[in-house]
Amino acid sequence: MNPEAEDSLYERLKAYEGRTTSAASVGRDPVNAPMIRHWCEAMGDTNPAYEGSDAIAPPTMLQAWTMGGLSGHPTDGTGRSGAYEELSALLDGAGCTSIVATDCEQEYLRPLRPGDTITFDAVIESVSPRKTTRLGTGHFITTRMDIRADGELAGTHRFRVLKYAPAAKTTKVTEDAKGTEDTKTTKDPKPRRPRPVVNRDNAGFWAGVAEHRLLIQRCADCATLRFPWLPGCNACGSLAWDTVEAGGDGTVYSYVVMHHPPFPAFTVSDHAADAAGPYAVALVELAEGVRMISNVVGVPYDKVRIGMPVRLEFLRVDEELELPVFRAGSEG
Ligand code: ZN
Repeated sequence: MNPEAEDSLYERLKAYEGRTTSAASVGRDPVNAPMIRHWCEAMGDTNPAYEGSDAIAPPTMLQAWTMGGLSGHPTDGTGRSGAYEELSALLDGAGCTSIVATDCEQEYLRPLRPGDTITFDAVIESVSPRKTTRLGTGHFITTRMDIRADGELAGTHRFRVLKYAPAAKTTKVTEDAKGTEDTKTTKDPKPRRPRPVVNRDNAGFWAGVAEHRLLIQRCADCATLRFPWLPGCNACGSLAWDTVEAGGDGTVYSYVVMHHPPFPAFTVSDHAADAAGPYAVALVELAEGVRMISNVVGVPYDKVRIGMPVRLEFLRVDEELELPVFRAGSEG
């Protein structure tokens, strides 16, 4: 797209900022104990605050109270404006036909309790300038939903998507071989492993990996170790933590062997014969007690066994990615 067309598209997209997408919509059900119970069972959350006669709803259920379910909201057609659909169609027309949800932020202002009637309004809060990501080029759209309980603002839910035109697959073709399919195939670079998603909750883990240290989070209040990295302690709820460095010893707690379909980016075995074959994915229990999913190297995939002692090492996958893996001891 030329710069002028781009500017004009962005101006038209910006005009949707502040547009209401849903006004005075009503939650399908009031806040209620059965939905809270099902949620807690699905999440494995046994916090006593969510049970009993003075129960509150888990704060992260905020959006659940606004969902219409498979059949949609019975109030559809009254509260909804169609602005989001128009914005979406505008982006489709500009070639941004793909969509991916990128993140969500919630803010809680008061607890929700069984019996609360939920109403909500949603607005297109912002449309970003044109951005290029690994997926492609497009615009981030942030929608903000204000959720009220019995008319009082109880929380906000921001939801962001990227509407984008997928990046063209690059095929390297040498000058003299243009047009010959065989050469095209052999010149394709090996597919690269997906990049880890590094965010503020796990950045410390990847900083450790860069220094060849496997860091385990430790609750600063009750000393419970946790892995993978999380913002809070599952045992006591504390948000305070520090880290301990894993000594590097572990055992295979469980494993699976991936046979099919073959995925070239995951040929992890260092045995040449396995280059295009199956590979083992292991759940390794570290000596410190936490478990992590990784690969076992140094043995063929079919020699990985539960209970096998393994030792941490760092595998350089490509020029920008290193991963902790586990090497099996010498086999008899
Ligand atoms: Zn704790």
